[in-house]
Amino acid sequence: MRVHVIGCSGSFAGPEGAASSYLIEHEDAQGRTWRVLMDLGSGAFGPLQKVIDPADLDAVIISHLHPDHYLDITGLEVFWAYHWRDDLGQLPVHAPATLPERISAVLNREGTVPDGVDCSPFEHHTLSDHHRFRIGPFEIETRAVLHPVEAYGFRITADGVTLAYSGDSDTCEALDDLARGADLFLCEAGYIEGRDDRFSGVHLTGRRAGECAERAEVRHLALTHIPAWTDPEVPLTEARAAHSGRITMVRPMDILEVS
Ligand SMILES: [Zn+2]
Ligand SMILES: [Zn+2]
Repeated sequence: MRVHVIGCSGSFAGPEGAASSYLIEHEDAQGRTWRVLMDLGSGAFGPLQKVIDPADLDAVIISHLHPDHYLDITGLEVFWAYHWRDDLGQLPVHAPATLPERISAVLNREGTVPDGVDCSPFEHHTLSDHHRFRIGPFEIETRAVLHPVEAYGFRITADGVTLAYSGDSDTCEALDDLARGADLFLCEAGYIEGRDDRFSGVHLTGRRAGECAERAEVRHLALTHIPAWTDPEVPLTEARAAHSGRITMVRPMDILEVS
């Protein structure tokens, strides 16, 4: 399994890249490559097109409906609805229940069908806690995590390897469960100790991400969702003080092997 980092800037697009979006790829036993896009935050639809033709996506999963995790799906919807190819079918999109109305509001229209076409380009599926579903070779499990809005983390397994993704979350039992024994734990560290202590129940710090990785005994902790105003060395140093295993800080266009 591979993870392409399309965007990893925390909370809003930054000068070096887009907000959260990750492309997950895996080949099945027949040699077909499956591609699932995990989040599509502000600014991410542009760089996605540097990595793949979006028409090759098999599904999209959205952790929660903050703009830095879903807003550019409005661009993907236009792309899919009006593409010159007429064989794309509907693209499965797994997200919190209100995504279709959010997209319509941003696109300034009534209903979920774009002007001039017959049906929604997306096949919408509603996420819930402890939900399990399959996309090609990927087994995906959701857990509701601690954030001010309905938000999910994902645990994705294919051919015996496991990727865990925090989405946006502060410390909670569900996050420990998601991360347990993961080969790669892609975990946000949007806050830093001291500076952001007045906020709770929103984001992890590098220290709290490291503590979660330590409790969950993950093989590789990859920190992400660092806002433009934070020096990445700060959360990285915090995490290293809390977790003895492998830790990296993700960058736009990184390719992470899950093995
Ligand atoms: Zn976020
Ligand atoms: Zn959020």
